[in-house]
Amino acid sequence: MVCILAVDDIPDNLFLLQSDLEDEGYEVLTAEGGEEALSIVRTELPDLVVLDINMPGLSGLEVCEKMKVDEAVKNIPVILLSANAHDDDIAHGLDYGAHDYVVKPYQLEVLMARVRSALRLKQTQDELVIAYARLKEVNESLQTLATIDPLTSLANRRYFLERVAVEIERASRYKSEVSLLMIDIDYFKSTNDHFGHLCGDKVLESVSKSFSDVVRSVDLVGRIGGEEFAVCCPKISVDEVALLAERIRNSVEELSIEYEGNFISVTVSIGATEMAAQDNEASDLFRRADAALYKAKEQGRNRVVKMTAQTIN
Ligand code: GH3
Ligand code: MG
Ligand code: MG
Repeated sequence: MVCILAVDDIPDNLFLLQSDLEDEGYEVLTAEGGEEALSIVRTELPDLVVLDINMPGLSGLEVCEKMKVDEAVKNIPVILLSANAHDDDIAHGLDYGAHDYVVKPYQLEVLMARVRSALRLKQTQDELVIAYARLKEVNESLQTLATIDPLTSLANRRYFLERVAVEIERASRYKSEVSLLMIDIDYFKSTNDHFGHLCGDKVLESVSKSFSDVVRSVDLVGRIGGEEFAVCCPKISVDEVALLAERIRNSVEELSIEYEGNFISVTVSIGATEMAAQDNEASDLFRRADAALYKAKEQGRNRVVKMTAQTIN
């Protein structure tokens, strides 16, 4: 039900205003002074305030002014009521942020038409607030969909590549280091073949979780492909990143993943590299990390191989 706060310091006027509004079917709250009005506005959040201007203590204009600087209530429209019928008074009242101004004694039909107009404004504003909140929610979920891999909650390939490009740019500008790991689960196909695809998914989730226990908060972990991951590590060299890779390799090896009564173990092979002066873009770094990963597979898997621009050939 629409709720209107009626404010007047003269009890007879207030009673009349309340009855007129109630006759139109509105729920009416009342206040006999500015302070009381402001406190009811803040606690009850009425849809509209019909406010007498001339009152002892806080005047109607002051109440209106205070409401318009208070985020929580500034969208509640105010109709000022006053016996002052001069243009200056009306302009003054509207400059205080009132939605409308009605001269007393009011004509019932005019006041009610203005009440309806103010309530339409309030309703449109309320709808806008709800629409904006929904839009924000949709935007956030779109942002998540666009950047996060749903199975592992890691950065997806596209977002990971975008972030690596930013890190490379930053590292070249500040002449600092950036290293990259490519990680691939060994013989993952046979895990799927033996225990099924759902089990494979659980392994992917568990392996992903184990990365976050080991990497630093500044490192970015992404799922690059099916059972292939990458870690971008700003400000560390290939030797340091190889130590991190060894910790990752070890933590995956120690996992015992339970699935329908089976305990599954997997291992990973990791290629490690760092950015070199001659690297122009992210793909140079990825190519080298891939070559290192390929070597790790070739040399028997479950190991870390590092490669720099000097050692690649
Ligand atoms: P290697 O040690 O040489 O890497 O062997 P591999 O078996 O891990 O590599 P291969 O590329 O032959 O197989 C990868 C498998 O990963 C095949 C594919 O079905 C599986 N895979 C890719 N994405 C997913 C996924 O999202 N869920 C599951 N369960 N399996 C996936
Ligand atoms: Mg594999
Ligand atoms: Mg693979």
